[in-house]
Amino acid sequence: QAKARGRNGYRFYQPSMTGEGVERLRLETYLRRAIEKQEVFLNFQPQVEIDTGKLLGVEALVRWNHPELGLVPPVRFIPLAEDTGFIDQLGQWVLYEACRQMVRWDEAGLNVPKMAVNLSARQFERGSMVTRVADILRETGLAPNRLQLEVTESVIMNTGDALAFINDLHAVGVSLAIDDFGTGYSSLAYLKQMPVQTLKIDRSFIKDISTDANDEAIAIAIIQLGRSMNLSVIAEGVETEQQAAFLLRHGCNQAQGFYYSRPVMPDDLLQRWLP
Ligand code: C2E
Ligand code: MG
Ligand code: MG
Ligand code: MG
Repeated sequence: QAKARGRNGYRFYQPSMTGEGVERLRLETYLRRAIEKQEVFLNFQPQVEIDTGKLLGVEALVRWNHPELGLVPPVRFIPLAEDTGFIDQLGQWVLYEACRQMVRWDEAGLNVPKMAVNLSARQFERGSMVTRVADILRETGLAPNRLQLEVTESVIMNTGDALAFINDLHAVGVSLAIDDFGTGYSSLAYLKQMPVQTLKIDRSFIKDISTDANDEAIAIAIIQLGRSMNLSVIAEGVETEQQAAFLLRHGCNQAQGFYYSRPVMPDDLLQRWLP
């Protein structure tokens, strides 16, 4: 199959024309072996303090590079991994590798304050999740307060035991961020009961922040909500200086997005952010 050669010399995945079902099965089969074949790796995207440019942390974003398919985007394989149950294994791998990477940076004398890791719905629902997180922290030696887990509002709202789960995570010492905030339905009353530390304003509101009055209003409302609930607020998908300036002007001093850096390999993070 012809595939365009993209950034970093990667070819990007293009679905074959054989039909959705066949395609899915093919991906599923390959995905099952992706970890053992070492096709999976992590990129890290900086989270930055807007006014100083200081590195506040990074978000781990999983990548899958299949020799034949090329680089398959997470939006294609994460849902598949959830459906097939492979997400348990993948999620464990991501969590472990992300924590290991932090320790590697520490050992190299480089200060990356915080690591954010995404949790999918299925992982979140696992009763054993909290124990697994605690085990990984112990095994890798990463201090719990340097790990932040990201879940979406819908995951929280749709999980029966979300409050208990989040309380348990909090007890382990990790912090929690609500990802893609504003795109799901969350009961603010419910949120208020939870030891959540961070709201991540979804990229869709940031995109047209200086031209679309609705997006502007939503972004401002989230910033104010965060402030009144004593949460830290970070904007996702910041691509321009104007967007960053807007956020700062309205009291949001944390951002993540292409304007600062794309998700990168660990060594590139070092060069760019840690002189
Ligand atoms: P997310 O957690 O909301 O991650 C942010 C996504 O926005 C990433 O896409 C990132 O590359 C992209 N992004 C960051 N800055 C910008 C920007 O300025 N402009 C634009 N256009 N995009 C930006 P990515 O890496 O493709 O990941 C997509 C989603 O896949 C993530 O959304 C997350 O929900 C999921 N995902 C990624 N890695 C993992 C993982 O390890 N575990 C789980 N469960 N989900 C993951
Ligand atoms: Mg995220
Ligand atoms: Mg997000
Ligand atoms: Mg998002």
